[in-house]
Amino acid sequence: EAKQSGRNKWVYYRQDMSEKLTERRKMAAELKTAIQEGQLSLVYQPRFNLRTSNVEAVEALVRWQHPERGSMMPDQFIPLAEETGQIIHLSNWVIRKACSDTLDKLPGLSVSVNVSPVEFQASDLADRIKNILEDTGLEPTRLEIEVTENVTLSDPERTCQTMKTLKQMGVRILIDDFGTGYASLSYLRKFQFDGLKLDKSFIFSLGDSQQNQSVVEKIIDLGKAYSMEVTAEGVETADQLSFLKKNKCDEVQGYFLGKPVAITDLNLS
Ligand code: C2E
Ligand code: MG
Ligand code: MG
Ligand code: MG
Repeated sequence: EAKQSGRNKWVYYRQDMSEKLTERRKMAAELKTAIQEGQLSLVYQPRFNLRTSNVEAVEALVRWQHPERGSMMPDQFIPLAEETGQIIHLSNWVIRKACSDTLDKLPGLSVSVNVSPVEFQASDLADRIKNILEDTGLEPTRLEIEVTENVTLSDPERTCQTMKTLKQMGVRILIDDFGTGYASLSYLRKFQFDGLKLDKSFIFSLGDSQQNQSVVEKIIDLGKAYSMEVTAEGVETADQLSFLKKNKCDEVQGYFLGKPVAITDLNLS
């Protein structure tokens, strides 16, 4: 009997697997048309300078208005886009849209866009960005690229070269979700990022223990030791904000200060 139910489980498992595969193939095909059909949009979240309280930049975050599934969050389709290579198209659209929005509607502000580590492996990332900047007319110094620290893992030489080219153009590069990936300290020195965004899980943990607070303090110091501007992500409470202020974190971003919204709903004061 046990054997029988074990076998059934295996059958169910296989059915489940193939359903998932079919589902994924369908979604991959749909993602292809999503860009052409205008189903993608951007929301923007402000990032504040803690010393001046000014908005320093806005982060562009992609959304997909799927005809049947409704509003989809990036975690539901970015991994698929990375696997199928469509991330390049998606990303071209995101960067172009973010640059032209910023030029048209956000005078004096910078914009940051998220780029997948896999895009750094395709050697033409710097060229793509250069073309978009030229086409849209946004000054390169107003564009920032966010990439997770896992970008340092494969082909570090090539990645380093791409970063150098971007930095020479004036584009700033920030490490996103810092503390959750695999970068070694020696890579922080080698890659010379302009800024570090401390992952929100560290900010959420601040209230739990003295030890967690101490870790955040040390990461802020570490970032500064490498001449990086330190941003705290996921600031949701006044207590978190005052802790970060007290410990000289440079910049903050989070629901407490401003949620991601359509560009016309941004409150920049
Ligand atoms: P991320 O770059 O770390 O972006 C921050 C995420 O945290 C966003 O989620 C944002 O809505 C959320 N967030 C901001 N403040 C708070 C807060 O106070 N509390 C909580 N709980 N969450 C907060 P979102 O928009 O769902 O994006 C998730 C991830 O998807 C992003 O993480 C980024 O890695 C990726 N992503 C988003 N847009 C793009 C894109 O255009 N291209 C690529 N390659 N990845 C993108
Ligand atoms: Mg980001
Ligand atoms: Mg991220
Ligand atoms: Mg992040």
